[in-house]
This record gives sequence, structure tokens and C-alpha cells, in this order.
Amino acid sequence: TSFGYQEVREEEKSQLVGNVFTSVASNYDLMNDLMSAGLHRLWKDRLVSKLNPFPGMKHLDVAGGTGDVAFRIIDTINNEKRQALQDSFEDNLLEDTQIYVCDINPNMLNVGKKRAEERGLSEVRSLVWVEGDAEALNFEDNSMDGYTIAFGIRNVTHIEKALAEAHRYDMYSFSVIPAVGDIVAGDRESYQYLVESIRHFPQQEKFASMIDDAGFQKVQYENLVGGVVAIHSGLKF
Ligand code: SAM
Repeated sequence: TSFGYQEVREEEKSQLVGNVFTSVASNYDLMNDLMSAGLHRLWKDRLVSKLNPFPGMKHLDVAGGTGDVAFRIIDTINNEKRQALQDSFEDNLLEDTQIYVCDINPNMLNVGKKRAEERGLSEVRSLVWVEGDAEALNFEDNSMDGYTIAFGIRNVTHIEKALAEAHRYDMYSFSVIPAVGDIVAGDRESYQYLVESIRHFPQQEKFASMIDDAGFQKVQYENLVGGVVAIHSGLKF
């Protein structure tokens, strides 16, 4: 076990996390805005700009929730496509792109799918919604170009397992970790648990060394707003 999660038995953790996100699914985006004063939008912009997505990319966004990161990736590639069309008349740039949004909670995925519809993205084959656990993902080794987990790594029970899973796939890996604050509602037990999980989440340097231990190279992190949030990244060659 890692990082003093002993207060909550491990088998209870997934259940608790599940309960929290089921009870907040429909208000999740609003809560994100309220809790971060809208800043999570900028943090996610920054995450995706660092990821530097490209047409044809196969990308896995874990704990993808309501699709925030995936939509930004699609938008970025679409903008590039527009640019390329002007520049060289190239087409089909989004065609081979596959962005997998993976989340353990189907309610969150449903909210995401609804949002995709509202954005006119329901027909976009590049966007794939997958139910799955960050600690045991159902994708082939080396099948992705990138992996992100935004505000989700502290929700997993074994951080090392999730990092080992991340290392199975990708060349670029990024995660955003808030040092404080989380989006919570619902029952008190779940709430207390999440507060504990944030308090126990390793500091930036420690988390960077865990990413390194998982086998990633050139591990770096960027602190945002003075370290309230950090974007960690690593490469696999
Ligand atoms: N990436 C989104 C964002 O930045 O707004 C979500 C952030 S994360 C705090 C919450 C999401 O993580 C929820 O949708 C929850 O269902 C999901 N989640 C929690 N534990 C997970 C796990 N072990 N595997 C996959 N998803 C998980």
C-alpha cells in the first residue's frame, strides 16, 4: 500500500470514489468551475498545449470524466487541420486520430457523451468512450502515443499500478495534480475520504520520482499558481 491510505480499507476506496462521482456526475463541470474559480479550464489548456497533440494521434485520457481533456485535444487537432488545409490542401487529418476517454464511472462518461453531442462531436469517430480502471486497463501494450490523467491520479488506490499501466502504452505522459481542493458532494464518508486522499498525495518531487521509477524518462513538472497545481510529464522511448 502507499501513502497512508490505511484509514480507509482499500477495497472500500473504489466504492467510495464511485459513490462520490455518481452523486456529482451531473453537476461535475459546474463544481469544477466553482471550486477552481474557472481556473481548471486554463490548467487543462496548458496540459493539452504541453501534450502537443498531432493528427493521427492515438491518445488515452484516463479518469477522463466528462471529456474536458479529450475535447481540447480534438479542438487542437481540428485547428491544425484547418491550418493545414489552408497551407497545403491536406485532408483527412482527424481521420486516423483516436482519443480514448477512459473512466471508471459510467455516469461520468454519459455526461461526457451528452456534452460531445452538444458540441456536435457525437458523429466524430475519433472520440471513443471506454469504461475502465486506471489500475488495470484493457488496451494493448504500446498502442498509444500519449496518456493523460488530469486530476485523477489521486483517486486511484495504488498510484504505482496506475503509473505502471501508463507506461505500458505511450510515448508522452502527462498528469495534472492539484495539491489542494477537490470537487466533492454527496455523502460525508466519501467526502472525508477524498479530503484525506488529497492530503496524502505525494508532493511534486516525490510524485516525479515515482513516475521515474515507473520507467519514464525526462520526467519534469511545471508548477502552476505557485504549486497549487502541477503538470507532471514523462517520456517513454
Ligand atoms: N479529468 C477530469 C477532470 O479533470 O475534470 C476528471 C477528474 S477526476 C477528479 C474524477 C474522475 O475520475 C471521475 O470521473 C471518476 O469516475 C474517475 N476515476 C476515479 N477513479 C478512477 C479509476 N481508478 N480509474 C479511472 N477513472 C477513475
